[in-house]
This record gives sequence, C-alpha cells and structure tokens, in this order.
Amino acid sequence: MTEQTADAGAVRPAAAAFAERILQELPAAVTVQDESGRLILANDAAARQFRGTTNRPDHDVAAMLDGGRTVTREERIDDGAAARALLTVHKPVEFGGRKLLLSSSLDISEQKAIEDDLFRRAYFDELTGLPNRSVIERQTGALLHDTMPHRFALAFLDIDNFKHINDYYGHAVGDALLVGFAKRLALELRATDLVSRISGDEFLLLLNPVQSAAEVGEFIEFLLERLKAPFYIDGSEVFASASIGVSLHPDHGRSYDTLRQNADIAMYRVKSATKGAHAIFDATMEREANERMAIEQSLRQAILDKRFCCAFQPKVDIRTREVKGIEALVRLRDDNGVIQAPGTFVDLAVQLGLIDELTHLVLDEIVRSIDLIDVTFGAHASISINVAAKQAGNHEFMRAFSKALAATECPTRFIVEVTEDAFVAKTHFQTEILPMLRAIGVRISIDDFGIGYSSLSALADITADEIKIDRSFITDIHKRPRSQGILKAIESLSEALGMTVIAEGIETFEELAYLQTMTRIRYAQGYYFSKPIFLEELKSSTPAFIGGRSTESGRHLEPARTSSMRSTISRR
Ligand code: C2E
Ligand code: MG
Ligand code: MG
Repeated sequence: MTEQTADAGAVRPAAAAFAERILQELPAAVTVQDESGRLILANDAAARQFRGTTNRPDHDVAAMLDGGRTVTREERIDDGAAARALLTVHKPVEFGGRKLLLSSSLDISEQKAIEDDLFRRAYFDELTGLPNRSVIERQTGALLHDTMPHRFALAFLDIDNFKHINDYYGHAVGDALLVGFAKRLALELRATDLVSRISGDEFLLLLNPVQSAAEVGEFIEFLLERLKAPFYIDGSEVFASASIGVSLHPDHGRSYDTLRQNADIAMYRVKSATKGAHAIFDATMEREANERMAIEQSLRQAILDKRFCCAFQPKVDIRTREVKGIEALVRLRDDNGVIQAPGTFVDLAVQLGLIDELTHLVLDEIVRSIDLIDVTFGAHASISINVAAKQAGNHEFMRAFSKALAATECPTRFIVEVTEDAFVAKTHFQTEILPMLRAIGVRISIDDFGIGYSSLSALADITADEIKIDRSFITDIHKRPRSQGILKAIESLSEALGMTVIAEGIETFEELAYLQTMTRIRYAQGYYFSKPIFLEELKSSTPAFIGGRSTESGRHLEPARTSSMRSTISRR
C-alpha cells in the first residue's frame, strides 16, 4: 500500500492486518486515487496489471468524483503488442473528509478475444476477410428503412467456370483467386458501397447511392474489365471472368429478398448466354425464371415418381450386321404423358444435382429388363450406359455406381460412356476412378469424340476401350473430304491405341457404304439400323426389324428402312 489512512490507528491492529491481507490477495485490481488523480493505494493485482505500463487507462478522476455515481466501463491498456481489456468499476467515496475514487478492475482480455473472434466469424468471411451475407442483408435493410429513401443497386456476381479453375489448378489456387477477386472488387468501390462474399464463388455488391441504370451499367462494365486482367498466383497467370446481374431499388423491388432474387435472375440470364458480361433485371427475365422453375419442379417430381424409362439402340457390326451391344438412352414421361428425349432435361438434371439419382434409375431399369435384353439382342450384347462428365469426376458417385454395377452380377457386360471432358478435367478420373471400374470388368467408352475440349494429341493419353466418333463427322461423310481426313486420323490413332471405333449417327446407305469401302471401321450406331427402341414395344409387336438369322453371339439387323418398326420417341 502506498499510504496509511488517517483513521488507521483507530482500527484494531489485528483486523487492519487481516483487511490489508485480504485486499492484497484479491484477484481484482483495486486502486484509490485522490482528487488530483494521484494514486494513494494499489493492491498487488493492480501493481501486476499496471507493471511496466506507461499507458494506464485514462479516466478523469475529478469529473467522476463530481458526478458522484458509480460507473462501470470497459477500459483498454495499449501496451505495445499486448493490448489488454479491463472491466472497471469506479466508485466515488468520502473518507475522513477526503473525496477519493475507489476503482476495481478485472482483466477480461481473454473473454474479449473470444468475443471478437466470434464476432468476426459471425460477420466476416474467413478466406477473403470480406463481410458476409448477413452484413450486406442488414445494411440493405437499414437503407430500406431510411426515412429518406433513395436509389441503390444490388449486384450479384458469380465467377465463370470457377469449378473448372478449381479442378484444373487445384483448391489452393482457387482460394487465392477468390482472395484476388475480393481485393480487386474492394479496391474499386466507394466508401458508401459494400462488397460481401455470400458463398463459394458468389459475391454481392451494394452500390449506394446510384443515379440511374445506365450509370450502374457503366460502372459494372468497368469492374468486369478490371476482373478480366490476369491474376498472378503461384507463378501462373490465371485468367478469370465473372457474370453480374443487377437489380435497382426501388425499381426492381422493395425488400432485400426481392432485390437479391432479381439480381440473381439477371445473373442467370448472363450465365446462360454470354458469360463475362452483365445484365440489369427486367420483367421478361422474371417470366423466364418462372418457366424454368416450373420445368425444374416437374423434373424433380418425375424423379420422385420414377417416370423414367430407357430406349435401347443397338451397336452394329457393319460387315455382319451382328448386334455387338446396345446403348441405354434415358427417356422422361412428362406431366402430360409425352415422352421426352434427354436433350430437354439431362443438362438441367446435372445442374440441379438430380443426375446421380437418374443414372441409378437407368441402371435399375436395365437390370429389370435384362432377360428381355438377352432375348432381343443376345445374351452377349454389351450394355452401354451414359454418365455425365460431372458425375464421372465425382468419387463418391462413381464409388456407389461401381458398387451397383458390380451387384448386377454381369458387370463385364457394361460399358460406361463418358465425353472427353471427363478425361480432361483435373478430377483424377483417369488415374483413380477408371481403375475402380476396370477392377470389376466394366469398360470405358469416349462418347461424342471430336466435339469436346480435347485434341487428337490428347487422345494418346487417354486409356479407354472404345471411341465413338460424333455424328457431326459422320453425316454426309461421303461428300465431305475434310471430315474424311479427320476420320482417317482418328481411325489410325485409335487403332494404334487398341480402341474399338464406333461411328455414331449413320442415317443413310451412302454413309454406310463410305465407311464399309473407305475405312476399316467395324462398328456403327444410327437410325439406318435402328432408332432407339422400347423393349416393351417389341414384346407387344412382332420384332420385324430384327433379321431372322440369329447366332450364338448375337442378333443380326436388317436396315430399319426395310422394317416395320416405327419409333414413337421424340428426337433431339
Ligand atoms: P449420346 O450418348 O451420344 O447418344 C446418341 C444420341 O444420338 C441419342 O440421342 C440417339 O437417339 C441419337 N442418335 C442415334 N442415332 C442417330 C441418328 O442416326 N441420327 C440422329 N439424328 N440421331 C441419332 P438421345 O437419346 O436424344 O440422347 C442424347 C444424349 O443424351 C446422349 O447422347 C447422351 O449424351 C445423353 N443421355 C442419354 N441417356 C443418358 C443417361 O442415362 N445419362 C446421361 N448422363 N446422359 C444421357
Ligand atoms: Mg452415349
Ligand atoms: Mg454420342
């Protein structure tokens, strides 16, 4: 203690010693100051708290004594690196005719650090340090309740092909790109604007105030240009772009949810058209979005109701007309009972994450129909099943799918058809997923070859069992020297790599004649032989399209032209 009080002599010595001991042992820091702020008492905890500090928390002792009230407040000691937070109670007291300020503090630095961390986590995105969704929602809410309503804009930004970038360069580069985007965006905004990362590769910008749609459009275009400049990450130049949809208050909505949703709708329009551009919301977009929503709903419903079936198209040996295999092509019976070809719903099913379920439904139907397949096409016919590139790179799905294929008891009859993209994307399809299929005897086919991202030279790195040349090369092949050249090159390369070549989409005798006379291609698929057919139809009618000659290894096909088969399916 720094000073004995005047009354100390009146207190019994033992009690005084006891009180002093207690005061010293108190975990809270206790100080007493006189009117001039001079410290006249400090216990051990206070001495420890202020040791080595020149920055004691400031408080105006005289003012507090004049106020006469007990005051509780948080105070900080900023002492170089280690700032500390104190919770202090100041109580003015009168003692022996003197006005004194009795103060007691607890160090709450740890609790404060936890609180600050929780605050940061609740309101800020850990990766980019930007405010999160709830901050921009509150801020927009505050503007909407402003007594002086004015124009502001919400801009919804989504990075184009971010998934590809992530797959290609890896997640660390993907993360660095997000941070780079966040920095560039923040750099161009005014103090009254706000940018937040609302999820994965999505950002939301609050532009406030704005004058007109034209002014916002101009600024957004400027922003898009800025974002197109390369990012230097890990020694690589990474190019990226974004699509932005904008809604204005009050023109396009008077609530956060409506404005956000309309900006989203406008962004979707950009994505499905050009990408790397912006669109400002308008009413026609809303109508389109509603229609899309209706299709989505009916697709979800169709999956729930299992309103899917398969049509099968044979793969034919063009020399012997023998059916080597069949391809299962999914069909959807829509709300009105009309059969739809996959062109209308497969991409949407991929986007909505419904494709995995759909693929399992296809496999289920194949398994249910296996006896009929054997009777119709022969027990040795291979069975091809299409898998979207996105699924092919998904370990979890492919593991479950391989298991389901193994459970069919005839996995070696199956061929999985994937497009070139599956091999090109950095998803370890070739190194990890493909071996899983091979291990159970399932073969791999490259579908629609020639129209994807890969090049002929990339083919050399792909290990597949079969390659299907896209219909666009086969149509009128006898009249197109350029396609003939390409076909020759694919043919020799595939032969060298030991892959079976299949020509897709043969429709005419002339195309077939060209393949038979001018190439060594053995197998083909196409309307010339057979359109995709429903097995149920075959059961109920005479399967006249199947030639009478049946061999042990399979069935022989006569051209569909000469058959009575009429497919009822709608074409792509
Ligand atoms: P794909 O796997 O390349 O299948 C060949 C497509 O070409 C089929 O269209 C078939 O009906 C059509 N086709 C066959 N021969 C001819 C012909 O001579 N001329 C013409 N113009 N077209 C012919 P479909 O059934 O509409 O299927 C379109 C695409 O949908 C398929 O292309 C495949 O990529 C996808 N698909 C079909 N079923 C499934 C499935 O179960 N899962 C997934 N993920 N995709 C599927
Ligand atoms: Mg296919
Ligand atoms: Mg194809």
